Amino acid sequence: MSAIIKPPRTIRSPDPYITPVHGTYGPCALCRHYSKLTQNHVPPESTGNTDRWLAQSYLTTVTANSDLIFGRRFNGGIRFRTLCAECNNKLGGREDKALLAFYEQVTKLVESPFQLPPLMRIAAKPNLIIRGLLAHIVSANDTGVPSMFDEEARSIFFGKKALRLSSWNVFYWIYMAKELFLARSLFLATWFPTLVMHEMQILKIYPLAFVFTDAPHFYGLPNMMQFIRPRDEEEAELPLFLYRRENNPVFPAYAASDKVVFAGGNAFGLVARQD
Ligand SMILES: [Zn+2]
Repeated sequence: MSAIIKPPRTIRSPDPYITPVHGTYGPCALCRHYSKLTQNHVPPESTGNTDRWLAQSYLTTVTANSDLIFGRRFNGGIRFRTLCAECNNKLGGREDKALLAFYEQVTKLVESPFQLPPLMRIAAKPNLIIRGLLAHIVSANDTGVPSMFDEEARSIFFGKKALRLSSWNVFYWIYMAKELFLARSLFLATWFPTLVMHEMQILKIYPLAFVFTDAPHFYGLPNMMQFIRPRDEEEAELPLFLYRRENNPVFPAYAASDKVVFAGGNAFGLVARQD
């Protein structure tokens, strides 16, 4: 009589790097006051961050067999319970409106049936867009592990530090893939001609991608920090390379011939797809 050998069962595990941290009360990610926490959409709902999303951590996406890992499900958009009601309302005001106005104009150009020039200029409010993005990225941190980026972003958001003195450059480009990508505290190392490491905070949702980095240049892309105005409500003509369309969900956080990505203990990243 031969023994029946059962094939091994596939056991799926939760994704350890994006497990939500439960808790209704805690220090607000922006003002740091202990408060009842509310959920903040990152990026704002108006940019298309609505409905159901299934997310995997950045580390799982790039290193693991994703069939073996449960995703983290978000109903009603990718959001984090990290802000007090006051900060959440403040952020949802003029900063989000400026970002939405920029999104709407870029979407029109990207989806235009007409032949357009390769370089377009878009009237937008860079101060408000950058301030809003800084605050959203700070709030996308439900482990609460702090970073230097967060400290500075808070000072800028509350006007304690001038935006033009920010240590971060903000590069942006057209992004065509369906995935939403959000990453904090990743380091991009370039080996040639000498070893250089640059920190990156990344936010991508069709049709735009943004990276906050201490690198002075980035793939020849425009740097929004160069368009900062004296007053927040002032518009600038932001350049947009219309035919430079990128569609790798985890770019620029991917290994290439002379590049390696490092993720430290406070790194956080998720790649999500509407589901
Ligand atoms: Zn707050």
